[in-house]
Amino acid sequence: MGIKKITFAHMGTSALAFKMLFQDLGYEVINPPVPDKHILSLGVKYSPEFACIPFKIVLGSYLKIIENNPHVIVSAGGFGPCRAGYYGEMHRRILNELGYNPDFIFFWPPLKKPLNFFKKIYQLKDKTSFISAMIALKRAWKKLKALDQIEILSHKIRAREKNHGMTTYAFHRGLTYLDEARTTSSIREAREAAVEELRKVPVDNQRSVLNIGIVGEIYVQLEPAANFHIEELLGNMTAVPHRTIFLTNFARKSPFSHDSKAKKIAKPFLPEMVGGHGQQSVGDVVSFSQQGYDGVIQLAPFTCIPEIVAKSLMPYLSKRMNIPVLTLFIDEQTGQAGVETRVEAFIDMIQQRQKD
Ligand code: SF4
Repeated sequence: MGIKKITFAHMGTSALAFKMLFQDLGYEVINPPVPDKHILSLGVKYSPEFACIPFKIVLGSYLKIIENNPHVIVSAGGFGPCRAGYYGEMHRRILNELGYNPDFIFFWPPLKKPLNFFKKIYQLKDKTSFISAMIALKRAWKKLKALDQIEILSHKIRAREKNHGMTTYAFHRGLTYLDEARTTSSIREAREAAVEELRKVPVDNQRSVLNIGIVGEIYVQLEPAANFHIEELLGNMTAVPHRTIFLTNFARKSPFSHDSKAKKIAKPFLPEMVGGHGQQSVGDVVSFSQQGYDGVIQLAPFTCIPEIVAKSLMPYLSKRMNIPVLTLFIDEQTGQAGVETRVEAFIDMIQQRQKD
């Protein structure tokens, strides 16, 4: 067989790092499409009705790419008492029933199941040695970290930009530099060039900005198309979003990670693990309040039990910790205009509250 084709679901900027990784492992990469209405409608059509929005978007993405005949689909596995644990398998079965039989390889965060992680890397490496695969992995990690760094910087700059849209333009230029970088040194140079692009954006440093924490389920936090570009939206309203999940902190899952600390903080309010990121969402709200943030937005896929449990505590937490919290439930009926109106009203309310 010639070069195998591989693909995966789009999840924010991480797609650029995974593309490089799989190419380095000897595959032809089918670029995952950015989720749109067509992808969502494909996913909705073939998903069980009860499935949550990440499941539907990811399935829709696979169905859109499947015509290109990928040999392998790489997907993330899930833990705990939520449906994520069997979603990958359900995706596989749905594709099988529709007559498609790609191989699926499921990954868990490396520090959670290290042996399993390295076994999967071994299984995945196609025409490369295990050592080369590990070097490629290290390089992809560097790219992932650089992508996160420039994204965080863009959030700080956008809220202070003088000319609307300049940060987004500079950020996308930076992404193209990182996309082209293929070696460790060129990734470093591309990161520096991307930072430089962002620093060139004229800003008003005197502007008073709001700091808004973003908590909730991983997929809707990481994929802007799934959260209606909420971070850009907030930036345009002179608010700096502070997301709790980045792929680089998620992959480091360990007793010392952000995740574990948030669960510990959540314990007095929610002592049980409820699956997904429910417990972390609770801990993160407490922690944002303790750090003096101005408000928190919880992103929750509709029917996501972990986030529903967390949501039930939000009115209490908001009052007790004295921090405004807005929960946005997201499903296929959610529209851009509705999200914008609610976020705008939330930001107005915080600004008003601070004047009083
Ligand atoms: S965390 Fe929520 S949205 Fe994600 S798979 Fe579990 S139930 Fe679905």
